[in-house]
Amino acid sequence: MNPGARLVMLGKQGAGKGTQAVRLSRHYVVPHVATGDIFRAAVRSGSEFGHKARTYLDAGELVPDEIVIGMVREQLTHVEITHRGFILDGFPRTSQQAEALLGILEPKGLDLAINMKIDTDHVLKRLAARRVCSDCGANYSVVDNRPKVRGICDVCGGEVVQRDDDTESAIRRRLELYERETAPLIAWFEKRGLLANMDALGSPDEVTDRLVAEVDRRKQVL
Ligand code: AMP
Repeated sequence: MNPGARLVMLGKQGAGKGTQAVRLSRHYVVPHVATGDIFRAAVRSGSEFGHKARTYLDAGELVPDEIVIGMVREQLTHVEITHRGFILDGFPRTSQQAEALLGILEPKGLDLAINMKIDTDHVLKRLAARRVCSDCGANYSVVDNRPKVRGICDVCGGEVVQRDDDTESAIRRRLELYERETAPLIAWFEKRGLLANMDALGSPDEVTDRLVAEVDRRKQVL
């Protein structure tokens, strides 16, 4: 089996993609590339790019495709130097981004797109409880996954906060855009034999075990 992994995480906001992406990136020792984290870092840096990104993020709107695609291309070109792969989290979100991704990944392609399945009621509860590290992007929950020390990230010691865009109106808009733009990608990846549907419910450890078993199974078949 090849070391590492080349994975895309799909699913509604609040499905636990971020948490599992961080865990899979540690398990397979590959970089976690999260477009939302990159945008939030740009916003914090106060750069012009960050100012522009902020208007989209705060409203729950998608950043235009050409900007996101250019950013991911640059990241993956850099990441590919490790040859071990990557965990892509929050990208692709539109069919244009998905097409561009497969182009960027040639010739090695992708191992798997993991669709984290969860119903909307669960998602709304999880998003209200969600907290994130403002430095490394690790995800927590005030219900079942608190950091060991209140407000401090277990992974990097950064500050754990509620996201600015976890407001009711921005959450509603993100879910609408998910249904319209991102949900069709599930069939898109399935058509290409690259999809694994996974149940997103369960403790973080249970879900990680389930995902690793599936990724390893697929890698053996490849
Ligand atoms: P996330 O952390 O993945 O929920 O992303 C937070 C926000 O960043 C989104 O609501 C969008 O405004 C923006 N964003 C992240 N990834 C993308 C993407 N692939 N395409 C467009 N906008 C994105």
